[in-house]
Amino acid sequence: MRPPGHARTLRGIAVSSGIAVGPAYVVDRRKRHVETRDIERSDVESELSRFEAALAETQSQLEVIGGRLPHGEHRQILTAQKLMLEDPDLAGRVAEIVLEELIGAECALARVADEIREMLEQADAQHFRERSSDITFLAERVLANLQGDAPVTLRPPAGAVVIAHDLSPADTADLVRSDIVGIVTAVGGLTAHSAIIARSMELPAVVGVDDVEEVVERGDTVVVDAIHGVVLLRPSEAELDEWNDARRRYDEFEDQVQREHGLPAMTRCGQRITLRANVALSEEVASSRFHGAEGVGLYRTEFLYMGRDTTPSEEEHYRHAKHVLRKMAPYPVVFRTFDLGSDKQTPLLHYDETEANPAIGVRGLRLSLAYRDWFLAQLRGLLRAALHGPLRIMLPMVTSLPELKLALEAVAEARQQLEDARLAYAQDVPVGIMIEVPSAALEADRLARYVDFMSIGTNDLIQYTLAIDRENDEVAYLYRPLQSAILQLIQRACEAGRNADIPVSLCGELAADPRYTWVLLGLGVRELSMHPSAIPVIKNIIRGSDHAEMVDLARRVLEVEDVADAERLVVREMRARFPEHLDHGGGQMLAAEATQTSQEKGTPR
Ligand code: PEP
Ligand code: MG
Repeated sequence: MRPPGHARTLRGIAVSSGIAVGPAYVVDRRKRHVETRDIERSDVESELSRFEAALAETQSQLEVIGGRLPHGEHRQILTAQKLMLEDPDLAGRVAEIVLEELIGAECALARVADEIREMLEQADAQHFRERSSDITFLAERVLANLQGDAPVTLRPPAGAVVIAHDLSPADTADLVRSDIVGIVTAVGGLTAHSAIIARSMELPAVVGVDDVEEVVERGDTVVVDAIHGVVLLRPSEAELDEWNDARRRYDEFEDQVQREHGLPAMTRCGQRITLRANVALSEEVASSRFHGAEGVGLYRTEFLYMGRDTTPSEEEHYRHAKHVLRKMAPYPVVFRTFDLGSDKQTPLLHYDETEANPAIGVRGLRLSLAYRDWFLAQLRGLLRAALHGPLRIMLPMVTSLPELKLALEAVAEARQQLEDARLAYAQDVPVGIMIEVPSAALEADRLARYVDFMSIGTNDLIQYTLAIDRENDEVAYLYRPLQSAILQLIQRACEAGRNADIPVSLCGELAADPRYTWVLLGLGVRELSMHPSAIPVIKNIIRGSDHAEMVDLARRVLEVEDVADAERLVVREMRARFPEHLDHGGGQMLAAEATQTSQEKGTPR
């Protein structure tokens, strides 16, 4: 361990907000050394049965791990790994190499794993690239079994920060039982396993920190600033004191706002706002309730289609939705019908790698209409589940009225199918749409006449309005939610909702960012839906504000010509009123803040 004082600042992406300070627990996954071992032709059979036995051993280990995992999505990832292992092509290719080259199974497996990894890493779709770590984990586990070693289990001490190249669902089973304080990984992305693990454990986490497992040594003191996406190694005593203070202040503030979780989100002047949770897994419902959500405003059902080799049946949709409704009762749950394609891939789709622009290709509602049987099965399941609680159906990526009418016809057809099958279902299920492409916002008046509610999805609305791919880091700096085009579209959708007398919610990431709370509510939004842990901070802002000051700020921001001035104005006003809250939103830093932070790089605010 190096002495303190040789601090190093590493940068990554904050995926689960907070500050953690602790000794590093570095997960050592140095590649197993595999010797090329020549075998006799007469040994081929026994070599292959040894390999078969190692595969079977790995399968049963994964079964045991699956039984210990608390979270649905991790189990799904594990199921995907088991399917990879069962793939006859994998065993077939290993057997082929052993037979043709007369070498040991370990060496053949290592070669096949490299081939598969290379293929996945070259894929265009992020989904496939992220799965390349699955093959690494699997190959390591099978190799360990072939070599008769126990696979590595993680046993971090209490208070440690876990540093890893990547984490697998099998690691989750170890980590949920530990008492760690933060996670840093080299592999990045919001949908990477490590990010999912961190969010489900509500731990500060920074991912995408290049080679972090190489530069950190076990026992090094590490500061995880998962507000700005910074990791500080080996801080000096003085820095350490400052960071420990910052962490204490952060945690105390979180506890303080959490205490208000049962109070209504009402402004000082009596304007009632509804705060709901964005959820992708039924396990997150408990956390939504804990943080005071008045229902689920966006249930992302895409996760039901991931990590499996068959599509969910009507029965599965029914049982799943009924389970979620029971857990959230008496509050409503808005189930978004599957928004697959583009950034939300599933192997079930037999994804066309050659599609040049998947974000504007067959995705969202278009895909639902193209895969009508899947769509009808989901709609039937949801309509039946609605007998068990206040369920709402939301259609993603609506771009025009004719398209909306086709989707509503599908809802009517699903009802008719249930009638024909003499199955009980709820008659009056509200059906709403997401406003997430500019055409829908501009035509919101027209669309609103056909639906029961609308929800603005700013993640995509910003992507399509400003022509910036939300997956592309190179254009991330252009993500400027306060650009007048975005604000005008939000305002227009709100007006359309008021005219049609239907509720309008906002469920993009902006909803969780305290910098935007006043502007969004000032533009006319009355419901916000966000990741559950953000709710207490946003509620605290609402309870400390008057509606008139929100409307006034929104008006002033709309009048500003240059978006940089709009950002400066909003950051100045919000920081003056809510200095602590602004560090609790995550979100991308605005230009107005970047200057300030670059001057203070590496030290807490
Ligand atoms: C959005 O686009 O803002 C949204 C909430 O949906 P998703 O992020 O799932 O595309
Ligand atoms: Mg979207």
